[in-house]
Amino acid sequence: MTQRNTWQRERVREALADARGFVSAQSLHATLRDDNTGIGLATVYRALAGLAAQGNADSLQSPEGENLFRACATPGHHHHLICRSCGLAVEIEADDVEEWAQRTAATHGFTQAEHIVDIFGLCASCAEARASERAGQ
Ligand SMILES: [Zn+2]
Ligand SMILES: [Zn+2]
Ligand SMILES: [Zn+2]
Repeated sequence: MTQRNTWQRERVREALADARGFVSAQSLHATLRDDNTGIGLATVYRALAGLAAQGNADSLQSPEGENLFRACATPGHHHHLICRSCGLAVEIEADDVEEWAQRTAATHGFTQAEHIVDIFGLCASCAEARASERAGQ
């Protein structure tokens, strides 16, 4: 990242912090374009990848295979519960998963095993909204 791109990266970081839950580079780029920042999609991608590499952002693949990003306050390894309707994300620890992953890797002779486990579903308020929608029909 060159020095003259620092403000762009900072702008991307701010937009990510303002977003609720996980967002794609495209939707973040659209937000920035509305603000007339002149920041290109490639720059948004680079900035997001940099933030993720430094642990300042979470990145994951949606069930549709899209790369999603989120400003993340929790350092170190953790997991997420993600609402597929509103994008709400809850940071969770999963001791059972850590144990299972280590054991399974070891059983197959794997070392330095890593894993990404995120749970997608419908959050309580979205489930409630859908239920009342149905009741109103
Ligand atoms: Zn996180
Ligand atoms: Zn939701
Ligand atoms: Zn884990």
